Amino acid sequence: MGRAEAGSTKAISNKLKSKGLTRLRWYCQVCEKACRDANAFKMHCMSESHVRNMVIVGENSKAFIQDYSDTLMKDFIGLLKTAHGEKQVNANHFYQEYIANKDHVHMNATKWNSLTEFVKYLGRESICRVEDTEKGLLISWIDNSPKHSGGRRP
Ligand SMILES: [Zn+2]
Repeated sequence: MGRAEAGSTKAISNKLKSKGLTRLRWYCQVCEKACRDANAFKMHCMSESHVRNMVIVGENSKAFIQDYSDTLMKDFIGLLKTAHGEKQVNANHFYQEYIANKDHVHMNATKWNSLTEFVKYLGRESICRVEDTEKGLLISWIDNSPKHSGGRRP
């Protein structure tokens, strides 16, 4: 089996590495460690502690990805709700607000490959109202709490 199956240690490792080399710079979500540059990141990936963590993650990879995804969702929606209520905001701008918190979950550790994918998921699940405009994706939180009776959810 040469191919990295989704959710396997190799797939996660590849995912972390490929994303790490681009926008997310040299951050290892598994170890929650930021590296200075490509070389440091490479050294980190070969380090005993990282390899040990990857084995643990590999044994529970689906659970880890799900856990990161749940945390991202909870934090993202929580902030959207407190900061903007049901007001419509630009998803990209809001994401900048979200990642300003240095403890944020990095998108590369979740089941979503990009912010766009994540936002579209929120739309599909009726968690947010999502509008695709020429200015980018606009989102607004949907208040599903019981006091808004006749809500969208059972
Ligand atoms: Zn690591």
